[in-house]
Amino acid sequence: MNIQALEVLKKYYGYTSFRKGQEDIINEIINKNDVLAIMPTGGGKSICYQVPSLILDGITIVISPLISLMKDQVDALKSMGVNAALINSSLNTSQFNDVIDGINNDEYKIIYIAPERLDSYEFVNIIRNKKLSQIAIDEAHCVSQWGHDFRSSYRKIGTFINSLEKRPIVTAFTATASLEVREDIIKLLNLYNPTLFITGFNRENLTININKSSGKNEYLLKYVENHKDESGIIYAATRKEVDKIYEGLLKRGYSVSRYHAGLSAEERKYNQEEFIKDNISIMVGTNAFGMGIDKPNIRYVIHYNMPQSIENYYQEIGRAGRDGEESECVLLFTPGDVHTQKYLIEIGTENPTRQNIHYKKLQQMVDLIYSNDCYRKSIIGYFGEEFNDNCGKCSNCLDDGEIIDKTLDAQKVISCIARMKRSFGATMVIDVLRGSKNKKVIQFGFNTLSTYGIMKDYSVDELKTFINTLISHGFIDSVEGTYPVLRLNEKSLDIIKGNIKVEFRESKVSKKLEVSNELYDVLRSIRYEIAKSEGIAPYMVFGDGTLRGMASVYPTTKEEMLTVSGVGEIKYEKYGQPFESAILRYLEENNIQKKDNTSNKVDKELDYIDVTTDKDLLDKLIEIRNDIASKERALPAMVIPKNTLKEISGRYPQNKEQLLDISGFGPVKVEKYGDVICPRIFI
Ligand code: ADP
Ligand code: ZN
Repeated sequence: MNIQALEVLKKYYGYTSFRKGQEDIINEIINKNDVLAIMPTGGGKSICYQVPSLILDGITIVISPLISLMKDQVDALKSMGVNAALINSSLNTSQFNDVIDGINNDEYKIIYIAPERLDSYEFVNIIRNKKLSQIAIDEAHCVSQWGHDFRSSYRKIGTFINSLEKRPIVTAFTATASLEVREDIIKLLNLYNPTLFITGFNRENLTININKSSGKNEYLLKYVENHKDESGIIYAATRKEVDKIYEGLLKRGYSVSRYHAGLSAEERKYNQEEFIKDNISIMVGTNAFGMGIDKPNIRYVIHYNMPQSIENYYQEIGRAGRDGEESECVLLFTPGDVHTQKYLIEIGTENPTRQNIHYKKLQQMVDLIYSNDCYRKSIIGYFGEEFNDNCGKCSNCLDDGEIIDKTLDAQKVISCIARMKRSFGATMVIDVLRGSKNKKVIQFGFNTLSTYGIMKDYSVDELKTFINTLISHGFIDSVEGTYPVLRLNEKSLDIIKGNIKVEFRESKVSKKLEVSNELYDVLRSIRYEIAKSEGIAPYMVFGDGTLRGMASVYPTTKEEMLTVSGVGEIKYEKYGQPFESAILRYLEENNIQKKDNTSNKVDKELDYIDVTTDKDLLDKLIEIRNDIASKERALPAMVIPKNTLKEISGRYPQNKEQLLDISGFGPVKVEKYGDVICPRIFI
């Protein structure tokens, strides 16, 4: 283990250990070898080139295609106490000159630039005379025509590197693994005998849930309702679909925004920032959203439609849980998605070779969806990394849903379609199965069929969902034409003959991963205020995991604070104080004793007694508490935590003495609020 690298990690980033692969890559760079590292989105690439830059002598130039990402990275570095700057088209002349002055005065350790800057004579001339330790190329696949977002400006990088008198170490990072792209990167960026790392494609904290059972809207609404206070992205294939979902959620009062190429640049920028700053919780977008977003606390990514390739899918779900906290990825699939994607490929490019590559990738995505193997294993295998066991954390591995035998119902549907002779759409089939008196049904004489009305126990929506599920499992075909019609296939016949059993797993919509605790909420609002006043994103102050760490070990000294992952010395100096005070106050006011310094953990059982909540009384108490809070201009949770109110509502303390027995009420609070609370208990 490289002690120096670990020290840098601890001091600046406040992390206690490296993630898989990071350390080897860093060692290689410190040993002055070129590196090509293929890591998944959110895998922690930046640390791989930033840590060496802080150890090596000289300046590190980071070339990145994404202006928004550059700013975030530079802000984050500054907040950790690293002198960093950026140069891209967002700077005006005086800002540009400031940075150039800074470079002349050797102020910066890390400089982010857009590849287009390599055109600037002034910049190139100055930088050539400086000691460069490393050139790190982020999103290196942009140099390749085979990558999904080719940038011609990336082709200048190789020439630039060649023009340098003394060649620094060159490092390239990407999440795209294909062989063609890899070869292009090495060749076109002039990497010198680079060590290749394909690392850590497994993102352990992501649950992969691929749901084929239709009913997308119901699922989505239920999901969003169950995850209300969390940050999440919903991806849809088309702008129209994005607008529809966005409007639906907005109408229902959710904190939601949207992003797609049909919006103006300003609107997109604004919406994105609102999301990053936690001012809104849900972002609905096309795949245009997310490039260059480094928001670590995204708790879920829902694909309302199937993405076009496994690369796209993995990149998009990779945006969840960058902070390493548990996060969920849900793909809602219906067969119609395949047609949409085919259409998008068709209109997306006229080049037949490109089209074929896309069709092939689409098919691989479809195969993945229908596969019965561990999804994680299949995906990671796709990226060329080995993964031996089943993950136990994807919808194919998890069997929490109840298996229900639907063979009989499937036979009813299939024989009805067979009896209707000509091909009809699902609506007509549903009408017949439910015994509708619809004019067309009668006209065709379908009311005389033996299957007429045999599925009356299903509602229209239920039956539609059921038929779609049969389609998505390949038990019936849906054939596109002017309008899609249902057709039977070999599997349908096997079902009728009883050769195939139809068993569906009842899918469940997950609940929020964990109950939030009161202190955590307090810390979050402190973070929000700091971020707002500094004009930065909340996660740049401290990540969710860091706050959760604080909320569970109650650090009240610098020493204790530094043991929390994500608190480095510089960040502690900058932001530690208000958090420390809040924790101290919380401990005092709630009468919580920290057990001892060695374990640092508080016995949770002592915290709250399990009592039945009196819902009406609780509502009343919350109202009273909020009144007090607004009078005191304090955070409600700091006045009296909700768990304490819950306990009061179940134990009915009638005087101050009894109130003292409620956890969370110390003598100070009893004096302060006892006279307001007690008399209200039985009113
Ligand atoms: P990407 O590979 O997509 O560029 P980042 O470099 O942005 O990923 O890292 C993703 C997140 O993971 C960031 O919030 C980063 O601070 C965090 N991270 C990276 N390395 C570590 C580590 N060793 N310990 C804890 N968190 C880490
Ligand atoms: Zn699995």
